[in-house]
Amino acid sequence: MTSKISPAPSCADPSDPQSISVAAALQQITQHVIAISNFEELPIRECLGRYSFEQVKSPINVPAHANSAMDGFAIAFDSLDAQGVTSLKEIGSAYAGVNFEGICGEKECVRIMTGAVIPEGTDTVIMQEQAESVGEGLVFVDTNHRAGENVRYAGEDISEQQVVIEPGASINPANLGVLASLGIASLKVYRKPVVAFFSTGDELVSLGQPLQKGKIYDSNRYTLFGLLSRLPVEILDLGVVKDNPDSLRKALLDAAQKAHLIITTGGVSVGDADYIKGILAEIGKMAFWKIAIKPGRPLTFGKINNSLFMGLPGNPVAVMVTFEQFVVPTIQQLSGTEPSPPTRLKAISQDKLRKLPGRQEIQRGIATCDENNQWQVCRTGKQGSGILSSMSKANCFILLDEDNSGVEPGDPVDIQLFDWH
Ligand code: AMP
Ligand code: MG
Repeated sequence: MTSKISPAPSCADPSDPQSISVAAALQQITQHVIAISNFEELPIRECLGRYSFEQVKSPINVPAHANSAMDGFAIAFDSLDAQGVTSLKEIGSAYAGVNFEGICGEKECVRIMTGAVIPEGTDTVIMQEQAESVGEGLVFVDTNHRAGENVRYAGEDISEQQVVIEPGASINPANLGVLASLGIASLKVYRKPVVAFFSTGDELVSLGQPLQKGKIYDSNRYTLFGLLSRLPVEILDLGVVKDNPDSLRKALLDAAQKAHLIITTGGVSVGDADYIKGILAEIGKMAFWKIAIKPGRPLTFGKINNSLFMGLPGNPVAVMVTFEQFVVPTIQQLSGTEPSPPTRLKAISQDKLRKLPGRQEIQRGIATCDENNQWQVCRTGKQGSGILSSMSKANCFILLDEDNSGVEPGDPVDIQLFDWH
């Protein structure tokens, strides 16, 4: 018998030659994902949060006609005397939606309301607070004015044929307003990809069942449901599958017939009951299975027939971390938009954070913005990948890059705010 063992790299090691970097994993994902090619045309309100399939050009000028930005008096600027106060005759009025039909001549003015079309013969609007209406249809205006003031020009906001929405754009509330302002009632958007998920593990019990010794409630399907619900996808919850190669193979092949993306949790590590990698290699193709990240190193990515496959680790925190870092960009690309890297902010760490160089580490934090507009962040206690309360108390991730070798209180760190607060 030997007196020494030669340990294999494990998730306890800071670095592992088989792991690929976070950047390399994201790049491989980009290379494998093809956006779904189907679209549907929907009333614009139903397009909120969806990705545009088409480029939209404006069919009109917005505003369509020059109009007033103020309540006041429309005049021809040249009517004003070079010095002193000019007396103008008020010859009518213009309201938003009710035009003044005549022509305004020299030394004349038209009473005008915000949004009303600028009457023919005028080019300037004097705010009513800066004019003096003296009765008998006479209005006094002094020289403190500029030609064209308080006039919104046709096409000033959007000109005819200007591109207002690019393919892949996420439709937000402002986009809805822009489309409506152009008279566009419906839009072609990418169809929602179908995302199926199931949990794996003999220890998992579904809600409503008693908890026997050694069993745990399945929480991953609930966090995944919550995370997926924020994205424009069809969610297919396929339940819990036992750690049994035949059941797993069948569940994966079945999911591949239904979904563009299959997500599983658990069973991707190196334990005797971790079958996912082997089955993926048998029925599909594996691109990688280890990323230099903590938590979440054993993440398996590949394809089964035409479906993408992401085998996330089982630990509940690792599921949420890897979802935000790897599943979100996958779904974005699949849905027809460019993956957008999460926004990083700089914060001052209030805690000492232990870390060894070798892999990116994502801790959970509570960030607050102090009175000097400086973000401060503290850790949410214990950071084990099974400690889900570290996620539920947090409002951000603390991102410690691969070469970081620990943080002292007062050091700057990068944070990524959760977008569900
Ligand atoms: P595994 O990767 O399958 O070895 O799982 C790693 C750890 O995560 C184990 O402690 C599992 O019990 C736990 N785990 C796996 N799946 C789930 C789940 N769906 N909900 C909660 N914990 C889980
Ligand atoms: Mg397991």
